[in-house]
Amino acid sequence: MAKIHNLGFPRIGPERELKKELETYWRGEISGNELVGRSESLWLQNLQRQACLDVVQVGDFSLYDHVLDTSFLFGVVPERVRRESDDPLQQYFLNARGTRTDSTCCGASAGEMTKWFNTNYHYIVPELVAGQSFRLQAQSLLHQVTLTRQAGFDAKPVVVGPLTYLSLAKCEEGVSALTHLDNLLRVYKELLSLLAQKGVEWVQVDEPILCTDLSAEWKMAFRYAYEVLRHAPGKRLLTTYFGKLQDNLSLVTELPVEGIHIDATLHREELPAIVDSLADEQVLSLGVIDGRNVWRAPIAETASWLSPYHDKLQNRLWLAPTCSLLHVPLTVKAETELPDAITSRLAFAEEKIDELAELRTLLHSHNHDSGVSGQRNNVSTPLLIDDANAPVLFRDASFTSRRTTQAKALNLPPWTTTTIGSFPQTPAIRKARAQWRSGKLNHSEYQAFIKQQIAECIRTQEQLGLDVLVHGEAERNDMVEFFGELLDGVVILKNGWVQSYGSRCVKPPVIYADVTRSSPMTVALTSYAQSLTSKPVKGMLTGPVTILNWSFVRDDISRAEVAQQLAFAIRDEVLALEAAGIRIIQVDEAALREGMPLRKAEADDYLNWAVNAFRLATSGVRNETQIHTHMCYSDFNNIIDAIMKMDADVLTIEAARSGLKVLSALKAHGYQNSIGPGVYDIHSPAIPDENALAQRLHTFAEFLDQQQLWVNPDCGLKTRSWHEASRALGAMVSAADRIRKQSAKA
Ligand code: GLN
Ligand code: ZN
Repeated sequence: MAKIHNLGFPRIGPERELKKELETYWRGEISGNELVGRSESLWLQNLQRQACLDVVQVGDFSLYDHVLDTSFLFGVVPERVRRESDDPLQQYFLNARGTRTDSTCCGASAGEMTKWFNTNYHYIVPELVAGQSFRLQAQSLLHQVTLTRQAGFDAKPVVVGPLTYLSLAKCEEGVSALTHLDNLLRVYKELLSLLAQKGVEWVQVDEPILCTDLSAEWKMAFRYAYEVLRHAPGKRLLTTYFGKLQDNLSLVTELPVEGIHIDATLHREELPAIVDSLADEQVLSLGVIDGRNVWRAPIAETASWLSPYHDKLQNRLWLAPTCSLLHVPLTVKAETELPDAITSRLAFAEEKIDELAELRTLLHSHNHDSGVSGQRNNVSTPLLIDDANAPVLFRDASFTSRRTTQAKALNLPPWTTTTIGSFPQTPAIRKARAQWRSGKLNHSEYQAFIKQQIAECIRTQEQLGLDVLVHGEAERNDMVEFFGELLDGVVILKNGWVQSYGSRCVKPPVIYADVTRSSPMTVALTSYAQSLTSKPVKGMLTGPVTILNWSFVRDDISRAEVAQQLAFAIRDEVLALEAAGIRIIQVDEAALREGMPLRKAEADDYLNWAVNAFRLATSGVRNETQIHTHMCYSDFNNIIDAIMKMDADVLTIEAARSGLKVLSALKAHGYQNSIGPGVYDIHSPAIPDENALAQRLHTFAEFLDQQQLWVNPDCGLKTRSWHEASRALGAMVSAADRIRKQSAKA
């Protein structure tokens, strides 16, 4: 009989209990022991939700992040963190967030946080120093194994594999993480022995980097590492996910492990060869339920193609989701407000576990020839631009010619000052929105309130002396959810939270059908803002690729096609803003890089259609109309060409925290269009000093032509208070003034 198991489960709980417990602890209202106790019962409830599995995973739950847990499991705790506290829990949160519960000290200890492969989950980057020592600290994991057993389950501990762990770590400049491999393997062996002593049979070793491009050195390191671990007691299930193995396939099948897990939805054609290459006793775990989407699986169809493998492998065949279910919401049961026609197509973590059980039953009943597959929607939008209509992707004139036209039309000063779009989302705004949602404020009362906010926002910007104003986004809770609510073919979930990092969760919209725009979305409020000032107000839209990447997307058509549908919708909005007299329009692509596939070849294809989607959204305007885009990062490695092809008139990016490398890279690539490198970090409440800002602007001018440069913060101001925002912007405007005067004299 095929075994069913899971790779990981959402941690946050049905009502985001983990978030609430963590915040209570961080406020100092409960003790560390209480936090651990409460989160333990949350985790035990999660186990009950997976009770139909043959074996449950242990170690996938985490108070903050499982990569940070792995660091602590192996005693990898930065010296600066150790110096601040001896208490392991304090150290843990110091490393995660930089603050202790018992003091208000600053964030100097926080580790760097970055994306877990191509998901929207963020992990804390392990830091390895020269001569790094590793010390096994397995008490907590062992304790969880005990509790799992006591709860009546067979326990399968999960650990991040040694090579994936090292590949995620940051080391001293010029040192390869592989220099730590031998020492690290020593503690892995120790861990495996301890677990075996405890009677654990299987350990799940996650090596998702096997789905990325690996150099010969890393491939060799894999062979070496698993050879070393071969003699440790117990059995290893080597799990790979987030993509295809491609050229790493033979490497994986040759590694001396007792079982391997692959994403079978991506490896259908190779399955016969993979099955043939298995060693006699080796287990094959097939990821057959998609762990990254929210759709019901085609169970009958899956059972039918699985059947021959099941006949052949019998109990050596295991079934699982393709990857951890961390990336989907907990349960569809909470979605009580959606039409049945939509909920009946959805499957979140709990439902995916149920699907596994259903699948197994069907597989055993030998009656799975109904061949029904997931429901399809009729696609109505003209699809994928071909050569014949490609001109639609280009502006009429080149950037240099547009620059002249726009300079005349807009008459902006040099070192033009602007912001990224949002102004503080105050408690008053949040309260009004909640009242409107609950019916306490009617639509016109709420609109009147929002207009009042906009008027104040415009007045403040005028007083500050900014050149290009914004309406301030008071009406938007979230840059993607706002458009998701207005576009047809998209729904917003009630409780569909997914962990982004630590206690932070996001609620991605669900794109379930063709996306269309039935009416203007931002025109009324943007025009209202423009009516209050003679300065240009910049219209503010979220770009098609960002909406796509921050949503759950239907899987019956390609992502490229969905991006194009979104692009048509945003294009119509861009043109409507222009027709209403808005002369500058910003289309944010904050998440452009996030949808990048892990393999170079696929990444190129992605960038190609992603850039086309942006261009489709923005290319319809007249030459006079200025298109801006914004990205919250400046790590343009691998995407400089794509940025250039987007051909936005003005690009604003993060540059306050990161180095200036990107500016010289843009220059080296011949980037001509205008650019606003963020002059100060909006993530910090500190008010930047005017002198420092002026100095910063001078530095920018060393890298780029002065006429290319805009002056702006590095992201939206929604998380700041008005007090902080206006003082910081005041300093920024004065710094721009000063440099303008200096350049006029020179
Ligand atoms: N326009 C958005 C804002 O200012 C952009 C947000 C973002 O870059 N994530 O909030
Ligand atoms: Zn941003």
